Amino acid sequence: MNFETKAIRGQMDRTQYHEHSTPLFLTSSFVFDDAEHMRALFAEEQDGLIYSRFTNPNTTELIGKLCALEGAEDGVATATGMAAVFGSIMGLLKSGDRIVASHSLFGSTHTLLSSYLPRWGITTTFVDGTDLDAWQRALVLGTAMVLLETPSNPALDVIDIRAVADMAHAVGALVNVDNCFCTPYLQTPLALGADIVTHSATKYIDGQGRVLGGAILGNRERIREIYLFCRNSGPSMSPFNAWLLSKSLETLQLRMDRHCSSALAVAQWLEQHPSVERVRYPGLPSFPAYQLAQRQMRAGGGIVSFVIRGGLEAGRRFLDARSMASLTANLGDSRTIVTHPASTTHSRVPMEARLAAGITDGLVRVSVGLEHPSDIVADLEACFAAAMKA
Ligand SMILES: *Cc1c(COP(=O)(O)O)cnc(C)c1O
Repeated sequence: MNFETKAIRGQMDRTQYHEHSTPLFLTSSFVFDDAEHMRALFAEEQDGLIYSRFTNPNTTELIGKLCALEGAEDGVATATGMAAVFGSIMGLLKSGDRIVASHSLFGSTHTLLSSYLPRWGITTTFVDGTDLDAWQRALVLGTAMVLLETPSNPALDVIDIRAVADMAHAVGALVNVDNCFCTPYLQTPLALGADIVTHSATKYIDGQGRVLGGAILGNRERIREIYLFCRNSGPSMSPFNAWLLSKSLETLQLRMDRHCSSALAVAQWLEQHPSVERVRYPGLPSFPAYQLAQRQMRAGGGIVSFVIRGGLEAGRRFLDARSMASLTANLGDSRTIVTHPASTTHSRVPMEARLAAGITDGLVRVSVGLEHPSDIVADLEACFAAAMKA
């Protein structure tokens, strides 16, 4: 079956009511037939539902679809994308383990690795993820895990998953890829050698800015470890969010195609704009890793970043002049969103690390929405006019 067919038809079996669309199972627990049934379920001698912190029909349906789309054997649904990132690390690593990570990561992931994991004896070496020699130098025998995002948030670094996975496996490290920016429609890291994929379903998978959610996908054995960590520590996805996210998958391909075509149009327009210092978009031939992006991703994605001439002040005037685009800390929404990473999502990342990851003061990130592309361009044009006035 093709992508959209799996995303639409991968629904659970119908109940006795013969509903067409998947129902929502709002129940915290499930009843057992008798004492023996209860014992057998807890002993895992029999399949069945116990408690919604473990699994629920709605989370199972969502994970089933995501596994089909990512080419994974199994998965865990989590309350947020950060719970997925955290669970994928805590379920597999232990004190004394070492991670090698790309330095261009979502702000909270960076904070988790640099400020919290060391408290439990898990250390991280950060490298420039686009520099394969840097990975090679950092990947010494005994490294437990490689962690990367591609394209990264917000610098849009595109990292060669296949090349990094080969180097990581040579030293026995697992490869953990945050596939949030691409979704399985644009990129399937497991097929490129990754061992674990995480998602913030809050972004494109929901796609309409309504709910939070996350997912961890991989092979049965590793997911089992992660599942047990999550089941015991409790960052489970609510059945309502799972129900909604499973519905959202039905339109993921249509939405991603439009996000990508509009983002390319916006990026091309920005590239010739006199008020723009530089544009980064993986789908532009001027993008440093254009060939790699063409090979690794189906299209360039929905996020464009650019540096405005005039630095921080021009950036502020630009953001304040919007009449349509939203100023909010999300991305992957049907509504176009502009953000200023240096003062928001990455404000807690130390200046030096921020600059190393390409997050300068003038960097503006645009999450190109599903409005008509000419309306998006008109709104941004008015912002530039205001920004350059002073
Ligand atoms: C937003 C985001 C996360 C965190 O997801 P939440 O659902 O907000 O917890 C993780 N990784 C990337 C790349 C993100 O953009």
